Amino acid sequence: MKVPLEARPTPERGMATFVTRDVNPGELLGTLTGSRLTERTRYTIERDGRHHEPEGPLRYLNHSCAPTARWSGRDLRALRSLREGEEVTFDYTETESAFAAPFVCRCGGPHCRKVIGTPAA
Ligand SMILES: [Zn+2]
Repeated sequence: MKVPLEARPTPERGMATFVTRDVNPGELLGTLTGSRLTERTRYTIERDGRHHEPEGPLRYLNHSCAPTARWSGRDLRALRSLREGEEVTFDYTETESAFAAPFVCRCGGPHCRKVIGTPAA
């Protein structure tokens, strides 16, 4: 069964998405079902050469250089065990071949790459 997710505003990073129960590694967190666009936006996720605009909590997934989830096809799965209330993040550079706009990462991880994405030439 799919893990319930909740999107809510955070003090420093805008909207973010959280699990609402404990999660085992590999559990399915969500599946991309939103509209497919021909161009990327700040919300789209690139899969199979298309830009998917997620609906619901998947729309607010933040990037992290030490993510808690990873896309496998159109399925988002937990990379490790998560505690209830932990944020769901993925590494945007694993899905996007380019970025609408580069951004400064605030994940705060020890291996944070700071600036994510390179501007289109
Ligand atoms: Zn980072």
